[in-house]
Amino acid sequence: MEYVSTRGSAPALDFEGATLAGLASDGGLYVPREWPAFTAAEIAAMRGLPYPELAARVMAPFVAGSLADERLLELTRSAYGRFAHEAVTPLAQLDEQHWLLELFHGPTLAFKDVALQLLGLLFEEFLARAGGNLTIVGATSGDTGSAAIDAVAGREGVEVFMLHPHGKVSDVQRRQMTTVLAPNVHNIAIDGSFDDAQAMVKRMFGDGEMTGRFRLSAVNSINWARLMAQVVYYFAAALQLGAPERKVAFSVPTGNFGDIFAGYVASRMGLPVERLIVATNVNDILHRALSAGDYSAGTVTPTAAPSMDIQVSSNFERLLFDLGGRDGPAMAEQMRGFEASRAMRLTNAQREGAAALFASARVEPDEMTAAMRWAHEACGQTIDPHTAIGLHAARSSGIPAEVPLVTLATAHPAKFRDAVERATGQRPQLPARVGDLFAHEERYAELPGEYEAVRAFISERATPSA
Ligand SMILES: *Cc1c(COP(=O)(O)O)cnc(C)c1O
Repeated sequence: MEYVSTRGSAPALDFEGATLAGLASDGGLYVPREWPAFTAAEIAAMRGLPYPELAARVMAPFVAGSLADERLLELTRSAYGRFAHEAVTPLAQLDEQHWLLELFHGPTLAFKDVALQLLGLLFEEFLARAGGNLTIVGATSGDTGSAAIDAVAGREGVEVFMLHPHGKVSDVQRRQMTTVLAPNVHNIAIDGSFDDAQAMVKRMFGDGEMTGRFRLSAVNSINWARLMAQVVYYFAAALQLGAPERKVAFSVPTGNFGDIFAGYVASRMGLPVERLIVATNVNDILHRALSAGDYSAGTVTPTAAPSMDIQVSSNFERLLFDLGGRDGPAMAEQMRGFEASRAMRLTNAQREGAAALFASARVEPDEMTAAMRWAHEACGQTIDPHTAIGLHAARSSGIPAEVPLVTLATAHPAKFRDAVERATGQRPQLPARVGDLFAHEERYAELPGEYEAVRAFISERATPSA
């Protein structure tokens, strides 16, 4: 499979190249040149496959030319062997219509493990071929950092420098990162906000001296391989609920538009999807874009669902590109306008294309709390704040009762114990598999919120690319 940039001028790459590059050199994002599609009979034949086999079947067209089918299956078996549930992403039933797709059975308790456990293996595989060393530099508000660190700790040829805003991630989130003492893991607490950390990372990717010495790569959801791995669980859930004969709808707590874009890809591949509901909190840029065509960034309001507290959703560009006729130069122009003014209007083609499959909702804090309480009291399920936002959007969507509606449960409730306790009166326990985080030694550097300091720290410790 070949991958092209949404902005039309970066070279096309194969799967291996797109995985190692992360972002395209023209500032765009890589997407497959065309969507592979399965027939209804091919989808029906996937029913009942163990998750690693389903994953290899769904992803095979995307990795063709870079990984043989048997090798892909070895990698999916290894990546998903570390999950605490045999089904990897099991469904839990709430009532006659509503289901939770539990995506938090991986090592760091959020859905990001599903993709990052595989991505760590892909990096190792491709570096063994290409030679050299990969330096991952990322910024995290919590969940991405721990999932990325767990996925690459101790692996050959890869090292990670993860920036988090000092004092602004939860204790559990911080300790999940800082108690990993592998020599290829470097945690940096910066004095500043998540946006400050993110801005430093972006600056480093544009810093010729750094990119000349080190092979920098990204693990956030601009990396295509992450989205690809997430397509699989849409198939897994729909197959259990009657696909391909029956359509299924999904409600997705959304931040960077990565997880829900994977649902869009599943639909383009032939999975019958009734609707994709984009659930946002008060940081509602995507709801405004989808309901009124207005994609304009404001300032972030911190909430109890921090992984959805974003201003700009990077992966939305992939959708706009696909719906706008895959016109790279036009997309580059539209994004230049957005980057200059922090606002843009969707074209008619983009609006109409999105309306055919997507719905959206903005969920208020009291609605989120009520959804947590309903799940707890009426269904005996404890859910985290992100999941609760998705569930409220699902329950108020008006989708006909005969359509199964799956809310993606993106984090384990114990990751957000305080918010869950406030809503339900019960404090969720950390699962035994994360160990006693509070008994382990932590290691992290504290740096001022200055680019030069972070740059010096990384360039002294990172391994040059070759
Ligand atoms: C990352 C994250 C999200 C948002 O996912 P996107 O792919 O960025 O839209 C939602 N919930 C949780 C718990 C997350 O960690």
